[in-house]
Amino acid sequence: MKQPNIIFIMTDDHAAHAMSCYGSKINTTPNMDRIANEGMRFDNCFCTNSICAPSRAVILSGKHSHLNGVETLADNFDGRQQTFPKLLQTAGYQTAMIGKWHLGLGGNYDPTGFDYYCVLHGQGEYFNPIMKEQGIDKTFEGYATDIIGDMSIDFIKERDKSKPFLLMCHHKAPHRPWDPSEPYKDMYKDGDIPVPETFNDDYATRCDAAREATMTIESNFNYRDLKLIPPAGVNQFKMIALPDSLEGYTLTPRETGVPVSFNSYQELKNFKYQRYIKDYLRCVASVDDNIGKLLDCLKDEGIDEDTIVVYTSDQGFFLGDHGWYDKRFMYEESLRMPFVIKYPRAIKPGRISDKMILNLDFAETFLDFAGVEIPSDMQGKSFRQILEDENAPEIQTSMYYRYWMHLAHHYVWSHYGVRTKDYKLIYYYGDALGKTGAIDESKEPAWELFDLTKDTNELNNVYGNPDYAQIQEDLKKELYRLKEEAKDFE
Ligand code: CA
Repeated sequence: MKQPNIIFIMTDDHAAHAMSCYGSKINTTPNMDRIANEGMRFDNCFCTNSICAPSRAVILSGKHSHLNGVETLADNFDGRQQTFPKLLQTAGYQTAMIGKWHLGLGGNYDPTGFDYYCVLHGQGEYFNPIMKEQGIDKTFEGYATDIIGDMSIDFIKERDKSKPFLLMCHHKAPHRPWDPSEPYKDMYKDGDIPVPETFNDDYATRCDAAREATMTIESNFNYRDLKLIPPAGVNQFKMIALPDSLEGYTLTPRETGVPVSFNSYQELKNFKYQRYIKDYLRCVASVDDNIGKLLDCLKDEGIDEDTIVVYTSDQGFFLGDHGWYDKRFMYEESLRMPFVIKYPRAIKPGRISDKMILNLDFAETFLDFAGVEIPSDMQGKSFRQILEDENAPEIQTSMYYRYWMHLAHHYVWSHYGVRTKDYKLIYYYGDALGKTGAIDESKEPAWELFDLTKDTNELNNVYGNPDYAQIQEDLKKELYRLKEEAKDFE
């Protein structure tokens, strides 16, 4: 079979539950849904480390964080190592990387394995970003999502038609600080976005890690996040602490300049949620538009049938779930990645799969479709068979997760764990490993166990419950088996 073109579209921090094809209650994403409708949606795609740079490094290398060298946000990706774009390039692909790289730049950290690259520095800016194009920094005028979308289309139109291509189109959106484009700034202006079921989670049965995390809607946003005018003399990046009393207390939106007062703390929390979620969804809307343009371009170029298109995000995100924003935790909203894929030559339209796939498996799958041998030191598995055959067997029924940045950001404890179809066991091992400026403070290790068959919201930690004694023991065995299989001996 002819080698397919591969377009790998990835965003930053876009949770599956903010996509209409995944049943979003808060927005619609017609163009992302097109990929799902013309191809396939995966309901159990998970990341092995729910944070930006580490997930990207896993995807490029097909290896877990501790083997690709990017365990934390402070680690850069050594471009001399094996990656799937390099292997595709060697196999005759024209390769391009456009948008968010976030794996370090300069020296051995510039993107490698690409015939063309143009990438944001670090997180990048939403407006008029500086991007490094083929080794040279340039300022690009406009909105980052549109710039990355347009550049991707230009690459497709100007491609070398004698070769198949790999295009990595990686948007910055909808990452914090959630700056929408001009046409979308008034979207959702009227009315409230519904809050999630677990908005007022009190973490009653969970261990201290959940209670201590500083990523709450209630009190961990700054003025910049919520586009509020800080009081005189206050830096916009200062967290907006909860006031002792609401009497005389106001917050002032930038766009109106009119102070808003609150009758209750719940009203204040909802106000913050609305400010956050509306901008987040506005950023998603721009991504969706640009995906639409790119899909149209494939049809115009007559290469729709020959092209694999993937849409995913580097990890999930809390959209007010458990009272939080951000990610990092192994809980479902953060662990789950959206993953939709189309390839008319091999994938039947409208399929939905609950089979477990991981970011660790992407590299292997792309190589498989390109007819390139999968290196034996890659740690994931190709799911090509699942894409091509409805009756294909599972490639895995359990997965290993590890978050390394102990207390580094949002005071989230480091942890590792196992998820199976029905259960999740998390071990907060409590060590201060001195990673990424981590606070040098050890925590008392703690466990959490969730029965996902009854408790999809993970509100009821059943660790230590005698009814789950056998399950708990089996999961521990599976956790240590997976840890060893992943060659994570630390
Ligand atoms: Ca991210």
